[in-house]
Amino acid sequence: MTLTAHQQDKERYEANKLAKRLRRCVGQAIGDFNMIEAGDRVMVCLSGGKDSFGMLDLLLYLRDHAPIQFDIVAVNLDQKQPGFPAEVLPAYLKGLNIPFHIEEQDTYSIVKRLIPEGKTTCSLCSRLRRGVLYRVAGELGATKIALGHHRSDIIETFFLNLFFGGKLKAMPPKLVSDDGRHVVIRPLAYCFEDDLGAWAELQQFPIIPCDLCGSQENLQRKQVKQMLQDWDKRFPGRSKTLFNALSRITPSHLMDPALFDFRNLVANGVPDPDGDRAFDPESLASPDVIPLLPEED
Ligand code: SF4
Repeated sequence: MTLTAHQQDKERYEANKLAKRLRRCVGQAIGDFNMIEAGDRVMVCLSGGKDSFGMLDLLLYLRDHAPIQFDIVAVNLDQKQPGFPAEVLPAYLKGLNIPFHIEEQDTYSIVKRLIPEGKTTCSLCSRLRRGVLYRVAGELGATKIALGHHRSDIIETFFLNLFFGGKLKAMPPKLVSDDGRHVVIRPLAYCFEDDLGAWAELQQFPIIPCDLCGSQENLQRKQVKQMLQDWDKRFPGRSKTLFNALSRITPSHLMDPALFDFRNLVANGVPDPDGDRAFDPESLASPDVIPLLPEED
């Protein structure tokens, strides 16, 4: 189909707006959590999915435009899944002319050997992958490990932990790895999944399907995703409110004595106009009136 000049202008305008929104979200997340500092060598984990391609693309833009100097090295772990098109990522990365490393480790066979047929393989597979990536980060001298999780992943993880793990816990934008040796960052923490999907299409990233291992998508995550999509249809803006709530926590109004010293709490005689109104009915203004992130261009 041939587009008219007006349609082409409109498409260019929309693509430009999308690029700006994604770059702004990444820049803001990096700034808010001090994810990248001058002199960092950032290992960008590239799985071949739309999110990791987007992350690499956005970080490369930032590397070339940020006021600080940092390096990027892209890393893919070839887990030897049957049908994995091993030539796709090296060809793409060579085309970008950036440093990269493909780590070949047959974690697929280990998972197949250790997990009985029909059981979920993802948790062992991810654990093995994590171990390999931490080792590679050390070998490459990376100071940060960047993962391509976005805001929907964060909200979904929050509900998975709440419903199935009995914990108030999401997916942090920055953390120290469980071996204590690396700082892991999630520069896409503020990005919308739909934006990343649209960007992947526009950029025509050579996406590698993520179901090569034959594993079913985690059923609990699927249910949570569906619940959030239904909510957003019925109550537009709800997931935005939920996401914002993750940055506005009041430990004194939860029940974790490790976070708030309830035991030694005493009246201090100082009135607090914004404090608790224990005897008043709750009245909740929509937190959406103060969006945490600017959404307009
Ligand atoms: S979907 Fe397959 S490759 Fe991905 S974590 Fe699960 S088992 Fe591993």
